[in-house]
Amino acid sequence: MPLARDVAEEVAKQYGVCIQPIPLKRLDTHTGVWEIVDVPCGATLEAKCPPCAKRNRHLRMAQCREGWHLDQEPAITPDEPNEEQRWLVEFRADVQAQRDAADQAGQDTTDLDELIVGLDEEINAAGMRGNVLGRTLPKRNRSTRRRQDAPELPKRKMINSTLGRTFTSSDGKVYRPSLFVTLTLPSYGKVKDGVPVEPDTYDYARAARDALHFSKLVDRFVQNLRRVAGYDVQYFAAVEPQKRLAPHLHMAIRGTLPRAEIKQIAAATYHQVWWPAADKVVFGGNHLPVWEDGTGYLDPSTGEVLPTWDQALDQLDVDETAEPLHVIRFGVQVDVQGVLAGTPDADQCVRYLSKYLTKSLSDSLDPDHQARRDHAARLAEALRYEPCSPACSNWLRYGVQPKGAKPGMAPGQCRGKAHKPEHLGYAGRRVLVSRKWSNKTLAEHKQDRRTWVLEALGQTDQPTDPHRYVWKPVPAGDANLAPLALRLLRSVAERQRWRAHMARLQAEAGDQDPSASEGRAA
Ligand SMILES: [Zn+2]
Ligand SMILES: [Zn+2]
Repeated sequence: MPLARDVAEEVAKQYGVCIQPIPLKRLDTHTGVWEIVDVPCGATLEAKCPPCAKRNRHLRMAQCREGWHLDQEPAITPDEPNEEQRWLVEFRADVQAQRDAADQAGQDTTDLDELIVGLDEEINAAGMRGNVLGRTLPKRNRSTRRRQDAPELPKRKMINSTLGRTFTSSDGKVYRPSLFVTLTLPSYGKVKDGVPVEPDTYDYARAARDALHFSKLVDRFVQNLRRVAGYDVQYFAAVEPQKRLAPHLHMAIRGTLPRAEIKQIAAATYHQVWWPAADKVVFGGNHLPVWEDGTGYLDPSTGEVLPTWDQALDQLDVDETAEPLHVIRFGVQVDVQGVLAGTPDADQCVRYLSKYLTKSLSDSLDPDHQARRDHAARLAEALRYEPCSPACSNWLRYGVQPKGAKPGMAPGQCRGKAHKPEHLGYAGRRVLVSRKWSNKTLAEHKQDRRTWVLEALGQTDQPTDPHRYVWKPVPAGDANLAPLALRLLRSVAERQRWRAHMARLQAEAGDQDPSASEGRAA
């Protein structure tokens, strides 16, 4: 009944109810009852539906506001995992089992691998540190020659603090200034209205590689920033698309530095990508490496085994003349703005930082603007054969076996996020928050709001026994799972009851707390 479902979706959207809930079986060990519970999509992986995306945006804004002008060191204490985290871990274990089974059966595991990476990120974002399986990948020992040099920059003595300096005015008032910094990538050719003036000479190859490695450059910038600042600088940043479709970065920084120093740091920051060369096509068209069980990929004409990923890196290490595959730097456009706590300026920056969180990089594309769509298509084409990671199947094109090579790989068919038109090379997180930004993880911000709601409802938020519930995925075709339309309407009914209750409470208290408005407290 597609019609009923559309209507239910529309109603759910109006009430801010998740329209793509994930059903889960939950055993209450206190009562022995199994029940199907809908978890909002926004609670787990990146929000997929508009109501969850909106809700997450408000959470992010709260998180950003809270950390920016902290005047006391945040206390970072690992917490007992909460229910959401436990669910994520168990779900991850289940996906891992599926993945291993698929792998053993010789099936493609790309999607499941991607899901696992996403889940690990979510688990970390939910406030648990490290890898769930407690397994850290062995780090390669790169020859010292390949180490990234720290650029020549002034250095202050490190103090053990995450707070910036304060300034006291003549009337004794203490100011805590912070920064809002915008960093962009270099020019790849002249653009007008987001479109290259001369597409033929626009450097798409460089634009593609810069987008792929952008997050590494941001990491380097933060490292250098901390060195120069002399304290443990904290940041809340958002990666957003520019009109020309290159990613750029807005960053709220706690504390302040002279503008000239920020510009100096941006200018001196670079990242070298020490990957094998990928400029000469070795295998293309129908002339592609062939897989041999127990051996790996072979040259189709000579039968020679292609170097594995590790062998290729070893070769790179001993080659005195080797150059990095790519060196990425910021462009000359660096915007630095001083911001004071509690000012309209600060508020505007917070809104700005969360503006694009609900959109994908390519969302700004106007479907009627042919020139811009052509531009996006050319960039996607440049990304098609560009290796996105050590495991990318595109390495076969350049004569190297991808890391973890398996049968069925072919250049141009990597399913990594970075190649997809909606990502345009940047597959990293859209929000980057340093560990000591605020006292709270995003999960704790959610918990805050829940506590507030329960208090408003006159209930206490008793901590639940962490071992009370057991979660399981709902198997496909489970007869106990109601149709989506029905589940959505149930959630809406619940939300309506809750709203009515809130309205009554507010009327009774005569309380006009603005935070009680719908949309924020959901
Ligand atoms: Zn949702
Ligand atoms: Zn790839």
